Amino acid sequence: MKKTIKDVDWKGVRALVRCDFNVPLDDELLITDDTRIRAALPTIEYLSEHGAKVILMSHLGRPKGEPKEEFSLAPVAVRLSDLLDKPIMFAASDDVVDEGVVDAIEKLEDGDIALLENLRFRKEEEKNDPEFSKALAGLGDVFVQEAFGTAHRAHASTAGVADYLPCVSGFLIEKEVKFLSEAVNTPERPFIAIMGGAKVADKILVIENLLNKVDTLIIGGGMMFTFYKAMGLEIGKSILDEEHVDVAAGLIKTAEEKGVKLLLPVDTVCASEFSNDAKTAVVDREAIPEDMMGMDIGPKSIELFTSAIKDAKTVVWNGPMGVFEMSKFAEGTKAIASALAESDCISVIGGGDSAAAIEQFGFADKVTHISTGGGASLEFLEGKDLPGIAVIQDK
Ligand code: ADP
Ligand code: MG
Repeated sequence: MKKTIKDVDWKGVRALVRCDFNVPLDDELLITDDTRIRAALPTIEYLSEHGAKVILMSHLGRPKGEPKEEFSLAPVAVRLSDLLDKPIMFAASDDVVDEGVVDAIEKLEDGDIALLENLRFRKEEEKNDPEFSKALAGLGDVFVQEAFGTAHRAHASTAGVADYLPCVSGFLIEKEVKFLSEAVNTPERPFIAIMGGAKVADKILVIENLLNKVDTLIIGGGMMFTFYKAMGLEIGKSILDEEHVDVAAGLIKTAEEKGVKLLLPVDTVCASEFSNDAKTAVVDREAIPEDMMGMDIGPKSIELFTSAIKDAKTVVWNGPMGVFEMSKFAEGTKAIASALAESDCISVIGGGDSAAAIEQFGFADKVTHISTGGGASLEFLEGKDLPGIAVIQDK
């Protein structure tokens, strides 16, 4: 078990909190979606209410190591202040930390909240430079890890500071670690993993790791055609990861050896071109026309997969079943999302597009956990130790 902010007596203590305030901005620098800011509020409020001096830090976009006005966290400071109904001291410095910032932080009273400027205004951030880490660490007494989206990166603010300060998790990280690790390491069985998305290459390590854990592995999405190819099927113009046909064959064999039930789609929705206006046809997997491409799983596959989900106690899902961005090819993904929503199994969704899909279909509040970190959740599912999680102290 990792230490959390609940394990610290915060009265008068400076909490240096790494948040993920990497929000989308429009041309006028207005925040178009403040979900990430809202997500961090419980931790910020807890710290402030328990008498901490709260110093928040985050990156925003890719300023590439130099100060750029369009990447300033100023709009975040304003939104935070609105949401918390409390003034936020925006310690705006192009250097992120300098004497002026140190002086300003010294003036904080218990319960006050400050925000530093975009960490990536300094190239030292992504280089995990020890001097920069030390300068950041000098602003706090305890480091609070609250940014899951960057936890797979060893940067100054995500890992380096922990060389100088004790580290505990905020509520968001606590939740991510709990649900992801419980699902993967101590699942209630039957345990099913559902993998989809465009390319096998992106998910090989996840599949390899999960094959050691699951009872059933379901494969859908664009990657299914590389598996079909490995099985000797013709796939027409479907997306193919040519270099990984052998890998797919190897994974099929590993599943067999490990006694994992591997479910591949038995039919597919094909299209004449990569477009929502294309002519479509539903065909069995042995009958994919030469001049068409597979865009979604078919109705028989939906039946096969959803009935497996009905029996499952734990499901980890990563990657859409089809080109869900186009309405004609969203049915497979929607059916999986809906089956998870109806089931009372523990359901954990990782991956940016899968999370977007489940939200788009309106099932977000009917699943156990949607991971907020695309890359980070994938690395977690690969069984890797994430640098930003590894630095959190154990209880
Ligand atoms: P995640 O972000 O959840 O990890 P990925 O990024 O791996 O998922 O994959 C999502 C993408 O896969 C989507 O843009 C989707 O359109 C694409 N995809 C799914 N099925 C197919 C298919 N049959 N052909 C081409 N692309 C597909
Ligand atoms: Mg993606």
